[in-house]
Amino acid sequence: MEQRKGFKDPVAIADYLELRGEMRKRVIQRKDFPLHIPLRIAEKMPKGCISNPLALQFLPLDDELKGGGVIDPVGDRKSQKSDALLHKYEGRALLLTTGACAMHCRYCFRQNYPYQSSIDEAISLISKDLSIKEVILSGGDPLSLSDKALKDIMLRLEEIAHVEIIRFHTRFIVGIPERVTAKFLDILAKCSKQVVFVVHVNCIEELDEDIFLALDQIRALSIPVLTQSVLLKNVNDSKSALYRLFWKLATKGVIPYYLHQLDRVTGALHFEVPKSKGLKLISELRDCLPGYAVPLFVQEIPGHPSKTVIQSLLN
Ligand SMILES: *Cc1c(COP(=O)(O)O)cnc(C)c1O
Ligand code: SF4
Repeated sequence: MEQRKGFKDPVAIADYLELRGEMRKRVIQRKDFPLHIPLRIAEKMPKGCISNPLALQFLPLDDELKGGGVIDPVGDRKSQKSDALLHKYEGRALLLTTGACAMHCRYCFRQNYPYQSSIDEAISLISKDLSIKEVILSGGDPLSLSDKALKDIMLRLEEIAHVEIIRFHTRFIVGIPERVTAKFLDILAKCSKQVVFVVHVNCIEELDEDIFLALDQIRALSIPVLTQSVLLKNVNDSKSALYRLFWKLATKGVIPYYLHQLDRVTGALHFEVPKSKGLKLISELRDCLPGYAVPLFVQEIPGHPSKTVIQSLLN
């Protein structure tokens, strides 16, 4: 399929980006979390460079071989109610619909998750637990599923009276906005529950007008579109990078929801920004952006009943 064209081979992407010498040698392939870059993202990467915000997020580099960190930094395994259901927070449960993504973000905290598809069991558990009012379709990326598979999941959730909100957590649209087809929009439009979209986006370099047009079509269905970002060293850890991102989103009617402190997964520690710097950046942004365009700076601490808002260095 044309829209799925992209890169999975380190040699091919190194050739495409015209990487030579030392730079080229730094590109690695990891069997456990292979390179996966959609064409649209690759086209936005400057040639002959591995230190721009896009290459840093998606090119597997030798930095990943450094030790440290943990396999499951957010305690997903402990909150597993079944292979595909995480129930960590009151009222909200997260359905791991698939392990597939449109792209492999090198800092992904779920890169080691043992995905299995047992959606039936998960939906049956949701139907029996009256406390679950919102189901988050996550993964992987729920938009990796076919329209047919997504429609099936949504129809089954719609049958459960106590589920009132269906939330999508997705990054797919940033790599492949063409995924927002008329058929997909029709599924959203016919959904009898409130739908909410949370799109993962980290820097303005990832975005373009096609992506905003796709988000506009979703917003046109009275579906709120929010974003979540991860604070990443040399990608978005400056006032100017975050300002440009959040202001752009605000001008497009998209509301920045969360800025996450990095989850310390093995192979991603080179992305870590000190919390003190994150706090300073958020405070500077508060001075120059509308309040609604400044996301909550949060961290996921295993065992806590919600994401923890970082307001001081004490937490
Ligand atoms: C982040 C997360 C949620 C959603 O939390 P909100 O604060 O409501 O956005 C739900 N379940 C799990 C397992 C999560 O990691
Ligand atoms: S899109 Fe999300 S789940 Fe997929 S690799 Fe990126 S961060 Fe991980």
